[in-house]
Amino acid sequence: MTGPTVTFLGGVREIGGNKLLVQDGPDRILFDFGPSFSPRWEQYYVDFLQPRSSSPVQDLLEFDLLPRLEGLYSQEALRDSDLAWRPPEVHGVFVSHAHMDHAGHLGLIDPAIPVHVGAGTRTLLETIEASSPSVRYGEHPWKVFRDRSPVKVGRLEVVPFPVDHSVPFAYGFLIRTSEGAIAYTGDFRRHGPRAADTDAFLEAAAAEHARMLVVEGTRAGPDPRKSFTEEGVRRGVDGVLDGCPTLALACTYPRDVDRLRTLYAAATAADRTLVVSPRTAYLLGAVAPHFPAGEIPLPGKDPGLAVYARKKRRVFRWEAPLLDGALSASEVRSRGARMLLALDLAHFAELIDLKPPRESPFVHSMSEPFSEDDVDDKVLHNWLEHFGLRFHQMHASGHASAAELRTFVAGVGAERVYPVHTEHPEAFRADGQSVVLPELGRPYPVR
Ligand SMILES: [Zn+2]
Repeated sequence: MTGPTVTFLGGVREIGGNKLLVQDGPDRILFDFGPSFSPRWEQYYVDFLQPRSSSPVQDLLEFDLLPRLEGLYSQEALRDSDLAWRPPEVHGVFVSHAHMDHAGHLGLIDPAIPVHVGAGTRTLLETIEASSPSVRYGEHPWKVFRDRSPVKVGRLEVVPFPVDHSVPFAYGFLIRTSEGAIAYTGDFRRHGPRAADTDAFLEAAAAEHARMLVVEGTRAGPDPRKSFTEEGVRRGVDGVLDGCPTLALACTYPRDVDRLRTLYAAATAADRTLVVSPRTAYLLGAVAPHFPAGEIPLPGKDPGLAVYARKKRRVFRWEAPLLDGALSASEVRSRGARMLLALDLAHFAELIDLKPPRESPFVHSMSEPFSEDDVDDKVLHNWLEHFGLRFHQMHASGHASAAELRTFVAGVGAERVYPVHTEHPEAFRADGQSVVLPELGRPYPVR
């Protein structure tokens, strides 16, 4: 095959784990590089049982959980593996956003290969590394791209477009090859605060007459789980807090800055203080400079936001400054009706000290579990039942709904559509588009 190609090395019939290799002559670039959320992964690695840090590639290749690609991995990551180290044959990696399933394997990549990210994503990755000792993205020449500014890698040209997603600084890409363009969505939606960005990406991809559209399809198939818009979550939380005489609790994804802002706005409107973990406070402080001034609430600076001091033995260096003026369980308890406490399942033991009155609301502002025998979900409900808390499900998905996907795919009007990041790629066929169900590891010509 002589012309440019796209090879799908992950994200095929699975949610997450996209790994797109685009090749044009001698030039090769990779888009996204993280583990998938596939059941296959959990057949082998779960909780306490993880690949060894001394031989990560060996332990992942054993179960085909990584692509067998030469000239990509670092010598260190390849230790004890049967895949030989070769000088880099991949000339750049572009990361669409900071979620684990798109960036989580960057630490395995050869330190000579440049990694291209948005400025905000670079900050997010640094923040995650600093506050999570087990996460390492590795040493790389980090290249920070600018919105809509083309980046040249050999004969390939990549234009990053911001899109709406549940983590800030998410991008879709237009990839110009010698025989036409590819549009790759990354993860996206159009029911959040940056819907206009998604629309602008759609228009640019349509104007480019993209030959291939590589589109995420997390919610393409049947999905009975209810999803709100971000505004809908706000109205829901307003309703829960309205006239509530007790402490209110909520949980959300740690890097969903939109949701944290929604909870903060709802708390402030109800004359409550939003109380967050030191890790969340650290994240807000780090990302704030990437937003217009005043848009991100900051603990110690903005009224109505406070940090929760968990009972723990060890304080990390990054969190020490944030614990100044932090609220203890007894302080949160005594100010109950003036507080909205963000509390992760992992920290539910705090409920033993918080002793929330029965009927206190708990807003689960995360996805409903995929399966009915989800262990975490069972444990969560056991605790809520034990303390007599009222459960509310209120979440806006980070992913486009089936209707949003239809509008997007039709609007771009690409010659061929390649669904990734989905268990239901065939669902895209319903609308008469030319849909190709990608096969893992097979190169598809762009032309
Ligand atoms: Zn994803």
